Amino acid sequence: MVQSVSFDAPEVFFRGVVADNAPDALVVVRDDGLLAFLNGETERLFGYEPGELFGQHYEVLLPERFRQAREDSPVRVGIEGNVARLRASTSLYGLRKDGREFPADMALAQVSTAVGDVVVASIRDATERREHEDELRNALSLVRATLESTADGLLVVSADGKIAGSNEQFSKMWGIPAGLISAHDDEKLLGFVVEQLVDPSIFVEKVLELYAQPEAESLDVLEFRDGRTFERYSRPQRIADEVIGRVWSFRDITAQSAAQKQIQEALAELAQQAAQLKQLAYSDSLTGLANRALFHERLEEALNLAEAGSISVLLLDLDDFKEVNDILGHQAGDKMLIEAARRLRECVGSSDTVARIGGDEFVILLVEPEDAEVVADRVVNALNSPVLLDGHEVHPSVSLGLATSGGESLQASDLLRRADIAMYVAKAAGKNRYLRFRPEMMTALLKRNNVESGLHEAIERNELVVHYQPIVMVGEGQASQVESLVRWNRPDGLIPPLDFIAIAEGSGLINAIGLEVLTQSCVQLGAWLSADDSHSAAVNVSVVQLREDGFASAVLRTLDDFGIDPHHLIFEVTESAFMDSEVRAVKQLKGLRDHGIRVSLDDFGTGYSSLGRLQNIPVDIIKLDRTFVTGIRTGKEDFPILNSMIGLAHNLGLHVTAEGVETARQARYLIALGCDSLQGFFFSRPVPIGLLPQAADHATSVYHNAVAGAPERNSDR
Ligand code: C2E
Ligand code: CA
Ligand code: CA
Repeated sequence: MVQSVSFDAPEVFFRGVVADNAPDALVVVRDDGLLAFLNGETERLFGYEPGELFGQHYEVLLPERFRQAREDSPVRVGIEGNVARLRASTSLYGLRKDGREFPADMALAQVSTAVGDVVVASIRDATERREHEDELRNALSLVRATLESTADGLLVVSADGKIAGSNEQFSKMWGIPAGLISAHDDEKLLGFVVEQLVDPSIFVEKVLELYAQPEAESLDVLEFRDGRTFERYSRPQRIADEVIGRVWSFRDITAQSAAQKQIQEALAELAQQAAQLKQLAYSDSLTGLANRALFHERLEEALNLAEAGSISVLLLDLDDFKEVNDILGHQAGDKMLIEAARRLRECVGSSDTVARIGGDEFVILLVEPEDAEVVADRVVNALNSPVLLDGHEVHPSVSLGLATSGGESLQASDLLRRADIAMYVAKAAGKNRYLRFRPEMMTALLKRNNVESGLHEAIERNELVVHYQPIVMVGEGQASQVESLVRWNRPDGLIPPLDFIAIAEGSGLINAIGLEVLTQSCVQLGAWLSADDSHSAAVNVSVVQLREDGFASAVLRTLDDFGIDPHHLIFEVTESAFMDSEVRAVKQLKGLRDHGIRVSLDDFGTGYSSLGRLQNIPVDIIKLDRTFVTGIRTGKEDFPILNSMIGLAHNLGLHVTAEGVETARQARYLIALGCDSLQGFFFSRPVPIGLLPQAADHATSVYHNAVAGAPERNSDR
């Protein structure tokens, strides 16, 4: 309901304009300050009864501090002045009848009418709006406080590339001088910023890239010249869905990235240690070659990958390595292994694997398509050149077995077993060679296994027989000495000692076998030995026997049982007997020697001992190895070593026997060199006891024939 004073023109105007349901309080103030018009909302808003306000001065609606007309007169001046003042006031308050104030928004208009100027005011309760504003203001200040307190430096750039704002932290982090930001010289600011970076181009490129794609977000790292590291995060700034700029946030991650680096370094170190550990676990510490584990891994790998036929395994074993160890010591042995490893490496390609898988056992995995036999040949030759160990020149050699995975798909273990069999056969065939696996070798191995199991019963079944080979004395040519050589008489044939002695040594059976040979020799030669003081029997004794406690006493008891004087007995031992780590062997040998048994050093010259050692070991006879004799072909050769060996032996009062004499020429040559006795097929093969007398006679006559035709002998005399 609209009330009005009798004030025609404005009233008509007002009624026509303002609906009774206007949401705001509407008042018309006359120039004398009295309210000429007001609507129902005015009364409700200010808390007056209907009609109560009408005709009152407008200032009743204002708190004291907003009034002006009170003291001032004329009032008119007051209204005009107040209109301007009220308009300018941002936080105007209204005064209710009950004295309470409320925030008010007010729109004022001065209107000239026919009856004079009036002021029209529209008033609205601003409580809610102001509260809302306060909230906004609080929120804003909170945001600002947050922005300022955050560790991140923030920079907001508008879509057209102008700096729209930044926080304190941004200036602090970049060390931006006061005023540079407010100066809005963006180019200068950019220059200031990039100058600090290790690589300014990265910074600039990223900026350009992101301006080309306003929607994109990015995260990268900036390296400072002073060592700091910043993380840079950028995302678009939006209002609703529109991108209006870009927010750059910078975080100092120097500490984190240093920690990160440390972690990475620690991890890298760990990885390296793991690799070293693996390397340790996979390598042979002495030679640096691969070890068994690595070899197996590589072999499996190669077999899984390769086309059939391209994988070869070369298994090799240093010949007589034990003697190097025994004679020259373990250090020299180690040196030899290291040298062997070095040579082996040189024989193969870089993708091949050389491993040491046992004391003196090596294996080569060939994956390169090179002919395996060429490599095997190269290996055997490479190992042949002499090695100088602590002043001793030794001549190593290897026995090598070679197996190739052919068309058939072989497992690693099969391949290795084949190489092993081939190596075994190479050793048995005289060492210092390579042999490729052939299926027939399996049969040989089977035989070997039969040997092992059958040897146990051989003694009880009386299958061991002894053959005797005459040895002729240079001079009168009498075969006054014989060597006892054992054979195994099996239903399938006579097995030579080389096929079972090593096995017997390995199983310990050699003790029983040795005693059996001694006993048979005593039984069969007893009468012959006793018939002549110069007759003697040479029996081979293995170092395994010498190590056995009670060996010496068993020997003496046996001789006693058969009434044979120890002077008739010669024990043939190899050098290893004297180099044995166990002193027992030498002790027993010395003990037996004290009883009159002579000791002969068998296979002399093949081992690793030097001539100089001869004077320190308890021997009476040296037996030049067959290989020296085989070397004599024309009889015109010059063998200074042989010559001096014999000379030295004689100087030491030793008797020299040459074995393996097969030709008259050899016999004559050896006689000329001064050998004291000769043995070999030229005189007689080893024969059963029944044939020994004829064999001995034959040997003597052969000797005389040879000597008779000897030009050397003629010139000697
Ligand atoms: P060893 O002691 O060097 O014996 C000499 C070997 O050379 C014998 O072979 C003999 O038959 C052979 N031989 C003799 N003259 C010639 C020749 O002119 N040319 C050739 N090519 N060979 C000749 P065997 O009987 O096969 O014995 C082989 C090895 O077995 C012996 O070599 C010896 O080390 C061992 N052995 C034999 N009997 C016994 C034994 O009762 N006990 C032990 N522990 N070992 C034995
Ligand atoms: Ca012998
Ligand atoms: Ca020999």
